[in-house]
Amino acid sequence: MKIIDRIQSGLTLSFEVFPPKSDKPLEPLLDTLDQLYTLKPDFISCTYGAMGSNKGRNMEVVERIQSDGVCEALSHYTCVGNTREDVLTALDEYATIGVENLLALRGDFPTGAAHTNGDFLHANELISFIRTQTGRFSLAAACYPEKHLLADSLEADIDALLKKQDAGAAFLMTQLCYSVENYQRFVDRARKRGVTLPIVAGVLPLLKKDGLVRMTLSNGCSIPAEVSALVGRYGESEESFREAGHDFTVSLVQKLIAEGTSGIHLYTLNRFEDVADLVFDAGIREKPQAKR
Ligand code: FAD
Repeated sequence: MKIIDRIQSGLTLSFEVFPPKSDKPLEPLLDTLDQLYTLKPDFISCTYGAMGSNKGRNMEVVERIQSDGVCEALSHYTCVGNTREDVLTALDEYATIGVENLLALRGDFPTGAAHTNGDFLHANELISFIRTQTGRFSLAAACYPEKHLLADSLEADIDALLKKQDAGAAFLMTQLCYSVENYQRFVDRARKRGVTLPIVAGVLPLLKKDGLVRMTLSNGCSIPAEVSALVGRYGESEESFREAGHDFTVSLVQKLIAEGTSGIHLYTLNRFEDVADLVFDAGIREKPQAKR
């Protein structure tokens, strides 16, 4: 099933997981997937190894999600390190394992490189290429409420978004963004510029101070004053920060839904408990009653 059909019929709930390194067992992630299924997601996405590494593991994980049959698998796929031949081979493999949905990305350049070391420089080129080869896949693309860190301006980044839309992307998935105001400003601007695709909001639950700082910095995202205050007030206590971060994320998710996002996509970091609490407390799914 194409994920875009789900999105068009109402708010979606989805999760992102990442594959273990090639020398680590897959089982812990499979257990997490079994737990995540209980939250009735519309789809689960699996990242594609940074800089083209760990390709096989991505395939193993999406095959598992697709064959479990609980929800659709969305496989991330990058330009980085991939030639036209590589893309054609990967499309065949995804088709063989029943995957119909791909998130087409450029990927981050390998350290020291200023190119993808493949045949495509930008995500829109990858999307166009796949579109000319086959209509089998529904393609999502990335967007950045606070602009991509290398884009000269938000307007320049929206130019890029329009190219991805013209190339045939079916929906957009956002980078994490802790500011609802910035998210809304981006959506308003993108809509005014002619971006019509549904936008699914990516949310990284705020659970650890170090993780927050690392992820926001590496992705060029802002830390709003409200979040800085949480770091100042609770940063020294892991447990208190987790509780305050949970409350902040619940409120963020509720505001994004109120703003009309097409879906909530939670970056799970392969964890279940925190994600489940968030899904229940934000009111996206009902908590099952404990059996007596
Ligand atoms: P592009 O759309 O190519 O944009 C990259 C930059 O080039 C931007 O500054 C843009 O403004 C500019 N640009 C775009 N098109 C053009 C054009 N035609 N001409 C000139 N300039 C242009 N990375 C991974 O390695 N693996 C993953 O699994 C992964 N998953 C992700 C999931 C999500 C939801 C998001 C938001 C990001 C993910 N990333 C992942 C990171 C992503 O690969 C990087 O942010 C990467 O630097 C940009 O990818 P993109 O597809 O947005 O690239």
